Amino acid sequence: MTMQTVGRPTRPEDVQPLATGFASLTGGRGLLQDEALIFERDGWNKTGVDLPEADLDGSDLGDLARAAPIGLPGLSEPEAMRHYVRLSQKNHAIDLALYPLGSCTMKHNPRLNEKMARLAGFADLHPMAPVSTVQGALALMDRLSHWLKTLTGMPAVALSPKAGAHGELCGLLAIRAAHEAKGDPRRRVLVPTSAHGTNPATAAFVGYSVTEIAQTDDGRVDLADLEAKLGPDVAAIMVTNPNTCGLFERDIIEIARLTHAVGAYFYCDGANFNAIVGRVRPGDLGVDAMHINLHKTFSTPHGGGGPGAGPVVLSEALAPFAPAPWVVHGPEGLTLVEETVGEAAQAFGRMSAFHGQMGMFVRAYAYMRSHGADGLRQVAEDAVLNANYIKARLSGAMTPAFPDGPCMHEALFDDTWLEGTGVTTLDFAKALIDEGFHPMTMYFPLVVHGAMLIEPTETESKQEMDRFCEALLALAQAAKAGDVDRFKGAPYLAPLRRLDETLAARKPRLTWKPSSGVAPAPLAAE
Ligand SMILES: *Cc1c(COP(=O)(O)O)cnc(C)c1O
Repeated sequence: MTMQTVGRPTRPEDVQPLATGFASLTGGRGLLQDEALIFERDGWNKTGVDLPEADLDGSDLGDLARAAPIGLPGLSEPEAMRHYVRLSQKNHAIDLALYPLGSCTMKHNPRLNEKMARLAGFADLHPMAPVSTVQGALALMDRLSHWLKTLTGMPAVALSPKAGAHGELCGLLAIRAAHEAKGDPRRRVLVPTSAHGTNPATAAFVGYSVTEIAQTDDGRVDLADLEAKLGPDVAAIMVTNPNTCGLFERDIIEIARLTHAVGAYFYCDGANFNAIVGRVRPGDLGVDAMHINLHKTFSTPHGGGGPGAGPVVLSEALAPFAPAPWVVHGPEGLTLVEETVGEAAQAFGRMSAFHGQMGMFVRAYAYMRSHGADGLRQVAEDAVLNANYIKARLSGAMTPAFPDGPCMHEALFDDTWLEGTGVTTLDFAKALIDEGFHPMTMYFPLVVHGAMLIEPTETESKQEMDRFCEALLALAQAAKAGDVDRFKGAPYLAPLRRLDETLAARKPRLTWKPSSGVAPAPLAAE
């Protein structure tokens, strides 16, 4: 037995397994408390703020002024603090453990980024502040643009799209504007079967019909099928590289050549740029437009942890159609092109009211500068190395979807190895929660049966990846040994058990109604 110097045992000789069916009396769990909704707490008659008496001469609102109390719950500062911290404990976060969601690039968010984003000169800006007062912020946007263009080998960038999917929309709107400018609107967009769902959704949203391109047995775009489907009515192809199977599109240059030969544009989904940043410049591959998920490749918090940002780099052919605003160097310093007139007359419009996600720009730029060009190249190398380590460690127990050759930044398994166990991909993923890890991406890409897509990113140490692999290997052994109950009921130890995710997505309950006994009472009148 290990003893502290004060003599207290710190490690019991044998850890007792959790008694099955054990439940706490209060809904608490370990040191985690059960937590009601803020509206269900007894907090209607107090407030955590102490404002001075308002000295108003009537109201300017006329008959718009609120006649009844607003009915918001009130909590004291410690109560509000605990409420939100308790809620945060019910969620998984990259700050707690490896977060292996494939395609999502859940890497560590360096604290330096946060420090920079909180500098008052960035954090406290108003988007309508006169440009002469925000030269530093414009300089940062200008430098970020320079790095994005340099890393991708592309001549122009639109910073304002607010997520990858928003960037796809921006890219396709630029492509549509370019075709329309030639008087040739075109109708179709080609998308491989392995694409992220946002690709066909974006194409349809912009008004194109979507044609699927088949995939080869080794997980790449089927060139023959691409060639057969390309034609003079095709506006663009949307190809992800490295693709969602975690594989580099070997024929990417030929794909670009065939696309351009019919007068179509090459949209590249750049969500997986993390795997090639500093090593490959998409502009050299013939790409015309590509979004970059700053939140993935350049480490800004996302996925419940913060907003994204999806700048789009554009080729010479598409640059004139880039949306406003953008930063230019003028005689009196930096300024913004806001109006789509004059030299900007071909810009297709705007993607957002203001300039995009400034806080994410600062974080991404801080990440670039702290790594430097050589460091960013190492990001890609280490991301690929880590994914291949995971692939190698797990391949004996689980079946890799594409066993031949190395993968890029994520390792993809199918469910062949679960055959006959009675355990599905869903069960297996849920059981990981009981082991303290977030599940991997499952059932995506759709082209792989029962897919399990694991992306460790470059920020995981070997020790952490070993802990993760050992959890997976132990679970795989349990599945093969017939311990089906462990999986079918999982998760057992999470605050909530298995949820009907489809129902939650299709019929979300977005409003709260007081249940009997909890009615908001008005704040006590003076
Ligand atoms: C994440 C992702 C997207 C969408 O990006 P968001 O920032 O979530 O909108 C598109 N394609 C692929 C391959 C992705 O991984």
